[in-house]
Amino acid sequence: REVQADGVVIATGAAARTLPGSEGLAGVHTLRTLDDARALRDELSRGGRLVVIGGGFIGAEVASTAYALGLDVTVVEAAPTPLAGALGETMGAIVSALHTDHGVRLECGVGVKGLSGEARVDAVLLEDGRGIPADIVVVGVGARPNVEWLEASGIALDNGVKCGADGRTSLAGVVAVGDCANWYDPRAGFHRRVEHWTGARERPDAAIAALLAGGAVEPGVPRPPYFWSDQYGVKIQFAGHAAGADSVTIEAGAADDRDVLAVYRRAGDPVAVLGMNQPRLFTRWRKQLAATAS
Ligand SMILES: Cc1cc2nc3c(=O)[nH]c(=O)nc-3n(C[C@H](O)[C@H](O)[C@H](O)COP(=O)(O)OP(=O)(O)OC[C@H]3O[C@@H](n4cnc5c(N)ncnc54)[C@H](O)[C@@H]3O)c2cc1C
Repeated sequence: REVQADGVVIATGAAARTLPGSEGLAGVHTLRTLDDARALRDELSRGGRLVVIGGGFIGAEVASTAYALGLDVTVVEAAPTPLAGALGETMGAIVSALHTDHGVRLECGVGVKGLSGEARVDAVLLEDGRGIPADIVVVGVGARPNVEWLEASGIALDNGVKCGADGRTSLAGVVAVGDCANWYDPRAGFHRRVEHWTGARERPDAAIAALLAGGAVEPGVPRPPYFWSDQYGVKIQFAGHAAGADSVTIEAGAADDRDVLAVYRRAGDPVAVLGMNQPRLFTRWRKQLAATAS
């Protein structure tokens, strides 16, 4: 059918990336939807050996939960330091050390070549020739924007729907928000696709204002993106963009205690803040970051 509209909001989100060749192999999971979470919970509750492919936030949270349930857990990460992209190398190493603190094995700097098993997975095969026995595998290797359905529409696509600083797309009367939208960041001077709830909740205000105005509106300064993650009983909070920072300083707590407030700066200005079990101080810094941004 065809639905007539004066304005369209594209909010089709993203889908979990999969591992080629893993289709139809029992015991292999991705995590995006409620059904995914239920299927994974059912398997984890039976125990066994879990291998998590990908040491990002979703992989880390799954590892932490599985550890608490008593499973034998290994995390495999292709990059030399997990979370380096999101947090920078120094703080990425400190946060991901939460795995080894708890006896979860962390294999870094080695890629996954494939999976083995007949009907059900029995091992994860690494590029260095080793195989890690596995009863359950979680593939946490990121998400891809759900924009295939737009390919013939003529709308500009580039790592999602390409948008201006107010969510407008290359087609008049069409805006895009959330995980599928690659917004221009005027402060950074390039486009960014942000996969956080705060972005999905806050950006529609600007996009709808542009849609109702029927053209360009003065975009407000977006609040620095924010996310949190609970791992091994530690509350991790992050706001801003680590990329581009030229220094990171620990302002409170100690890295060894995994109880830290770290501030990222560029040319002396704070551009991001990371907290591990420092919710009050983090909130204060997050406000200051937003004030600096605006
Ligand atoms: C396991 C997990 C943990 C996360 N934890 C955090 C966290 O702690 N903090 C945080 O900030 N963010 C977190 N995120 C990210 C956060 O969930 C996303 O940023 C947010 O859901 C994006 O919202 P959205 O509406 O853009 O997309 P989605 O939530 O993906 O919603 C898009 C919807 O569009 C539908 N759809 C897709 N294609 C079509 C189509 N062609 N036609 C019609 N409908 C379609 C989909 O079915 C879906 O319902 C997490 C994500 C995952 C997967």
